[in-house]
Amino acid sequence: MKTAAVVLAGGSGSRMHSNVKKQYMLIGDKPVLYYSLNAFQSSRRIDEIVLVCSENDIDRCRKEIVEAFGITKARKIVAGGKERHDSVYEGLKALSDCDYVMIHDGARPFVDEAMIERIWAELPQVRACTVGMPVKDTIKMSNESGYVEKTLPREKLWMIQTPQSFSYELILHAHEQRIQNDLEELKITDDAMLVEYKEGVPVKLIEGSYENIKITTPEDLTLAEAIWGHRFA
Ligand code: C5P
Repeated sequence: MKTAAVVLAGGSGSRMHSNVKKQYMLIGDKPVLYYSLNAFQSSRRIDEIVLVCSENDIDRCRKEIVEAFGITKARKIVAGGKERHDSVYEGLKALSDCDYVMIHDGARPFVDEAMIERIWAELPQVRACTVGMPVKDTIKMSNESGYVEKTLPREKLWMIQTPQSFSYELILHAHEQRIQNDLEELKITDDAMLVEYKEGVPVKLIEGSYENIKITTPEDLTLAEAIWGHRFA
């Protein structure tokens, strides 16, 4: 059962308002992107890593991250696309002879071995799963005028994280369908959504971690430093 990880670092990180892209900012003494690559590198469940980044960053990623930190499973570093789902597709195409794939945001440094094991244990049975955590806050839906339209049932709501993991054939087919049928109007924000809509395969929810945050805005870096402090320092 060959399992690969596709790690996405092809975003511009505009919400960080910084001239250093968020995936290359430091937490502790290492770049954000290093931590998730290292988690997949260290996991005995992962055979190969495909790193997806901007065309202009390929050399830098190879020298300053993959080679510098001995991420030997990352044999392929490929250029991403305009949107996140374009980058996922480029990563998937770089794989061959693969049974399962874990798709992960390089901006989530705190994926860990236990999470990878939980996913790996379920994946062959379910074929599609995502990690996430139950929401802690009450979530309301707004109408166009900025008033509450309704309050959603909190006990059923999860905030979704990555890795999102699939049978390779299933997720590749879902992306091919997306391209052929031009699904832009669905406003696809994650890979699980593609499988929900186009493949009709139920997506299993698996426990992630409240520490599995995505670095998006400057305050996330403060939180990441605190998490790093108790995990690694
Ligand atoms: O922008 P957002 O935070 O949702 O991006 C999630 C992940 O997808 C990040 O790790 C980012 O680098 C990656 N991404 C990508 N290609 C894009 C846009 C985002 O690889 N075109």
